[in-house]
Amino acid sequence: MAFEKEKTNEFTNIKKVIAIMSGKGGVGKSSVTSLLGVSLRKKGYDVGILDADMGGSSIPKIFGINSEKANISSRGIDPVSTSTGIKVMSLSFLLDKSDSPVIWRGPLISRTIKQFYTDVVWGDLDYLLIDLPPGTGDVPLTIMQSLPVNGIIVVSSPQDLVKIIVKKSVDMAKKMNVPILGIVENMSYYLCPDCRKKINIFGKSNAKKVAKEMDIELITQIPIDPKLAQLCDEGKIEIYDKINHLLTDSFSNKITLK
Ligand code: ADP
Repeated sequence: MAFEKEKTNEFTNIKKVIAIMSGKGGVGKSSVTSLLGVSLRKKGYDVGILDADMGGSSIPKIFGINSEKANISSRGIDPVSTSTGIKVMSLSFLLDKSDSPVIWRGPLISRTIKQFYTDVVWGDLDYLLIDLPPGTGDVPLTIMQSLPVNGIIVVSSPQDLVKIIVKKSVDMAKKMNVPILGIVENMSYYLCPDCRKKINIFGKSNAKKVAKEMDIELITQIPIDPKLAQLCDEGKIEIYDKINHLLTDSFSNKITLK
């Protein structure tokens, strides 16, 4: 079934839209979205991040811009820029108290996210990354139906890769005819700082096997890194220096702008 896709305003031109999903919360979806944004920005691309995870909004905090407010003009809503120039839009920029929980019903959230696509003055963007809420509910469904998403990245932890929840995310993207770019396994292992041995804290990963069974690329396996957690917590992800493993050759090829 084909769905009518939303269009951006006249001040915006977005080349590629990539949505990041996960089967459940807490696996590092927002961290991976942010890392991808930072990696692409470092390569010189114009990057935007649309925070669609309204229930667990963490993008503004990860970039240290959670007390910012969005400027609204006759052209639309201006996104907030991070220190390296990534443009971010989040509901928290429009609320009086950015830390109060958003207890809206699905349809209102979906409508707001569509507006973030259509009414935000994104300008020229090479990549718009959408941090989806976890799971396969209304909001990810609406986004896949109504925004021109070019590809999906599924983030999972080693524990969930054995379970049905990752498969559900993958099945949803397949049903909606949105290409799956691959899986990122986060918190995959811990690298002992003394002996450099990989320690499988959550048990041995079977990411490769699961990815193969689902016929999806395993983009990368990100270790547990206390430094990453600390920088995300302090809003300083842009100075994290171990990010290049996300843009592997094969993944970069898939998202290259034609
Ligand atoms: P989600 O968006 O899936 O709910 P977050 O990206 O908010 O998850 O991450 C949840 C928590 O885990 C955060 O405190 C984050 O800093 C931490 N975290 C994410 N990835 C890693 C990692 N690879 N190493 C250490 N901590 C991580």
